Amino acid sequence: MHAVVLHAPHDLRIENYPVADLGAGKVLVRVAVGGICGSDLHYYQEGGFGNVRLQQPMVLGHEIAGHIEAVGPGVVGLTVGDRVAVNPSRPCGQCSFCRGGLPNHCREMRFYGSAMRMPHVQGGFRERLVCDATQCFQARYASVSELALAEPFSVALHAVERVGSIRGRRVLVTGCGPIGALVVAAARLHGAREIVATDVVAEPLGVAAAFGARMAVDVMTQPDALAALEGLVDVAFECSGNALAFRQAVATLRPRGTLVQVGLGGDVAVPQTLLVGRELTVLGSFRFHEEFGTAVDLIDSGKAALSGLVTQSFPMREAVAAFEIASDRQRAMKVQLVF
Ligand SMILES: [Zn+2]
Ligand SMILES: [Zn+2]
Repeated sequence: MHAVVLHAPHDLRIENYPVADLGAGKVLVRVAVGGICGSDLHYYQEGGFGNVRLQQPMVLGHEIAGHIEAVGPGVVGLTVGDRVAVNPSRPCGQCSFCRGGLPNHCREMRFYGSAMRMPHVQGGFRERLVCDATQCFQARYASVSELALAEPFSVALHAVERVGSIRGRRVLVTGCGPIGALVVAAARLHGAREIVATDVVAEPLGVAAAFGARMAVDVMTQPDALAALEGLVDVAFECSGNALAFRQAVATLRPRGTLVQVGLGGDVAVPQTLLVGRELTVLGSFRFHEEFGTAVDLIDSGKAALSGLVTQSFPMREAVAAFEIASDRQRAMKVQLVF
């Protein structure tokens, strides 16, 4: 079987790759679709992000869905042919954070396609994958392409859940890449009354509008459009990682409003006067845990219709072309590989 292996920035190869043994509690998944994520792009373009650096060849990918091809001893609830989304998150279940109910902060996390650890945790862009049965979430109605959106949608659901209830609230989402657009969808499902989305590129704003943003503002061509919202927004989700977007988001918040930082940029200056004067709350949001099952259920039931996020799909053999297009925000939102 073959896998998409990154050796160095811009050195992506399709290689023969061994299939692991099918032990107790494991299943063999025939991977059908894998979505290219921002982190995959960072590895491909720059060899990593922050302190996380590619130090050895790594199979990329963590947004995967496919079909069960074989089940190991002791597996219940899954049978050959089942269509599943695969949860790429594998917390240890033993450390203090896992036991304290914060598995997304697991000290021994083995998240697919991540160079945070040595040796790196190999990813899911491969034709066949042996994983724990508990990582597989079965679906009946959604396509494998939609199911491969369960992981980024989980990230969005977790960001909304960090706030608690947003029912009836006015929400701002800055940065409408895949995560921002999915935060719009998640906020709408959670009962936000009014959602305003911003970006500096026009194309992603169309998707944000389709996912439920009442206003989709290009702050490049309409730099003053947010001024009308100054001090009126209840919750802002900053999904761009951009310093200016952070400032703009904070300025829109009402007294005791909340900013949820989802995007990852560098260090940004904090507007202390606003933070103090309006008694703002600033929260971070990282990955997800139980949201994965919720995401699969929302997608499978049709409550979350997310297929509009996928702009291109490429056969695995054309992974390099897929990664190049995925880097172009004017042409691509979510690019998927087909295995
Ligand atoms: Zn992802
Ligand atoms: Zn743990």
